[in-house]
Amino acid sequence: MAEKTIFEKILDREIPSEAVFEDEMVYAFRDVNPQAPVHVLVVPKKKLTGFADLKNADPEATGRFMQRVALVADRLGLEKDGYRIVFNHGKNGQQTVEYIHAHILGGRRMAWPPG
Ligand code: 5GP
Repeated sequence: MAEKTIFEKILDREIPSEAVFEDEMVYAFRDVNPQAPVHVLVVPKKKLTGFADLKNADPEATGRFMQRVALVADRLGLEKDGYRIVFNHGKNGQQTVEYIHAHILGGRRMAWPPG
């Protein structure tokens, strides 16, 4: 069996994390190396390796996942001033963990274009 990614270990509680939201579908926790005052990762409990997998995923589940991302951003108090959602994919996207995750970044004004 392939080795678990760090996020599977986090989901299995083999590695500690600081939870901010959890339900039957997703787990959201603070990034260990925050790039903004608020930096939270949202992962679906059903594994996809990256954003490209969404091409073949159930559209309803994908929609529910995105809805959870918006809900978590709201619960974090970011809605009024805004926030950025990032999905890094593959080598050029600088994806380092092969398990799909949405970054929620907030609490400061983001730069554009991104680095
Ligand atoms: P990626 O570069 O794949 O889009 O993002 C992976 C993110 O996971 C990075 O922002 C990194 O800081 C975060 N990360 C890596 N290992 C851990 C960990 O063990 N715990 C937490 N909470 N975040 C992690």
